Amino acid sequence: MNDDAPRRPATRLVEGGRRREWTNGVVNPPVWRASTMLFDDVATLRAAGRKPDEGFYYGRRGTPTQWALADALTSLEPGAAGTVLLPSGVAAITTTLLALLAPGDELLVVDSAYEPTRVFADTILARIGVTTRYYDPLVSGDAIGALFSDATKVILMESPGSLTFEVQDVPAIAAAARARGIVSVIDNTWATPLLFPAIGHGVDVSILACTKYVVGHSDVMMGSVTAVPGLFERIRKTAQGLGQCVSPDDAFLASRGLRTMGVRLRQHGESALAIARWLAAHPRVARVLHPALPDALGHDRWQRDFAGASGLFAIALRGDDAMRVQFVDALHHFGIGFSWGGYESLALPIEPERARTAVPWPSPGPMVRLQIGLEDTDDLIADLAQALDRAG
Ligand SMILES: *Cc1c(COP(=O)(O)O)cnc(C)c1O
Repeated sequence: MNDDAPRRPATRLVEGGRRREWTNGVVNPPVWRASTMLFDDVATLRAAGRKPDEGFYYGRRGTPTQWALADALTSLEPGAAGTVLLPSGVAAITTTLLALLAPGDELLVVDSAYEPTRVFADTILARIGVTTRYYDPLVSGDAIGALFSDATKVILMESPGSLTFEVQDVPAIAAAARARGIVSVIDNTWATPLLFPAIGHGVDVSILACTKYVVGHSDVMMGSVTAVPGLFERIRKTAQGLGQCVSPDDAFLASRGLRTMGVRLRQHGESALAIARWLAAHPRVARVLHPALPDALGHDRWQRDFAGASGLFAIALRGDDAMRVQFVDALHHFGIGFSWGGYESLALPIEPERARTAVPWPSPGPMVRLQIGLEDTDDLIADLAQALDRAG
């Protein structure tokens, strides 16, 4: 294999992390289970201790199974120095913030952020003396500078936002932060680096809840943090200091999921957009929140920056909560449950207005978040049609 050959993202998904010394030639990086690793002699043990971030040492630092997955994820974010794997998406967010913030620092968090991110900032970070301010997801890159104070050390973005799907002006915010020496972090779970390579757009740290599209089969919890040189080493050190690690079995499953993420994502995106357009024309639907629809919040930014849309969006219904409950309960093909990114469709009642503090969310009606799976799109539309007919 010629290592200088050009590799587009689909090729990197297939080839990433499959180093000969980690696989011994089998196609899939095998499961290396280990706590103790044995050294030939004391000199080798001492040499390994002097290179704490490389190679075999002790199980907590991983085995080729985890290294192969981390390596493949890094290859999707050109410009990144490396990837740290964590036991959940939330662990990836909290470990990153702990690595980057100290007492007296200020953190800026987008008002549309994933709710457990807010809870961590408002409780554990507050307890160690980090203050958090929330900002408008639709703020322009020109206006973001006015929000920075001398204490601001980190700005956290999530684009599109959890539940409400506003698209942020990520390149401009990242550039403004970098100019002030502020670290920019994005929760990139919705797009993945395939639809939005965040580091290439100037962001310093790109976080994924691998639980969603990387794993893709609703059976593993995992998070990843991919970062630029300097910050990657700092975040890895904090993760190791906290004793964070992922099991080789989970890494194997995530690695297997990653190989098909491109084709899955394309189908999720195509089906979700067809269903979103159908819902937008339905008289019982007040609003569809999907970044690829022309009336989406930040649609022009999505068009400018993203290579496509994934399979998660939300709708607001014309009716009350009782109508919403009837609608969700009447669905046959949509499971009721948390998370998303698996092969199966899901529907979840959501209340985004409850969490907001910077800018109110004027809810256009009782909302339901839809994860569009890999079922036949016509079956899903027929299901939504019968459930809307039966509701209210
Ligand atoms: C699910 C999710 C997370 C958290 O991931 P877990 O693996 O469930 O801890 C973080 N951010 C976003 C946007 C998510 O949807």
